Formats: sequence, structure tokens, C-alpha cells
Amino acid sequence: MDTPYRFCPACAGTMELRLLKTGEPMRPVCTSCGQVIYLDPKVAVGTIVADEDGRVVLVRRAIEPGYGLWVFPGGYVDRGEEVTAAAIREAKEESGLDIRLDSLVNIYSYPGRPLVVIVYAATRTGGELRVDDESLEARWFAPAEIPWQQLAFQSTREGLSQYLEGFRLQK
Ligand SMILES: [Zn+2]
Repeated sequence: MDTPYRFCPACAGTMELRLLKTGEPMRPVCTSCGQVIYLDPKVAVGTIVADEDGRVVLVRRAIEPGYGLWVFPGGYVDRGEEVTAAAIREAKEESGLDIRLDSLVNIYSYPGRPLVVIVYAATRTGGELRVDDESLEARWFAPAEIPWQQLAFQSTREGLSQYLEGFRLQK
């Protein structure tokens, strides 16, 4: 495994991977000054937005990974940004909709993957459905119309299915 950092951000010395503690991952360490880089997870947020008829918004991705596949609106949380604010911001950017967050669906993470995905259930409060330059298309789907074979990510499938399961249990 190559270290993701070739040079030390503190002294520009050469980095190498070292096992510092049994049971922990190898970490990039500077061979000159000893600086250790701790690679943090990356936090993303996704929002399942419903309208008054129980349909949900999906957008079709115009970027890799998952080009041409469907996902609910979402994106990365900026450092220092409140997660709920990121959810509202990304929903507006990717779908044009104003939303109200209703509840947490779940938090998804997978072994060996850097992403932690926080998924909210939300309701549309305003705005008109439109796409930005990261999407080919945006539309409303009734639960029975969801294209399960063309969803972009594991967290998309698991989030939507847990959301719909919760929706059924409430009825
Ligand atoms: Zn260094």
C-alpha cells in the first residue's frame, strides 16, 4: 500500500507507512521530523425529500462515481458546517427545493471506505424541482417507481429502503 502523502506537510521530508500500534491501521509518518498524519473519515449528508403525495426526489448523476445513476440529493459537509445546514444547502443546490428536515433515517459507513453518510428524511416546503450541473435529470418518484437497479451507491439503496420501511411502519 502506498502512502497517500509522499511528502511531509510540515518539513517536506519523505513519508512512509508505519504500524504505530497493533490493531490500528498503518499511518503515514515523516522520516525526517516524525510527523504522523491521521487520515480522518469524510462526512457526507444525504436527504430524502418527500412531497405531499409521498413521492421522493432523486437526481441522476452527471459526474463520476455513479455517472447516469440515481441518488437522493446530498454532498460533503464542510469543516465547521452544521450537518443539518449542509443537508438543507445540498438539497437546494442539487434539486432547487426548500426543505424542512423531519428525522434522521440512519448513518452509513462501510469497512475500508472513507465516507460516513448521514441520511435525513425531509419534506418539501417550497422551490421548484430543477437540476444543477452535477445532475442530468431530477424527478419525483412514487415508492413503487424507485429504480432499485439503477441507484448509485450502497448508502442510496440502504437509506431509501430504511426510509420506506419507517414510512410503512407509521401507517
Ligand atoms: Zn516532516
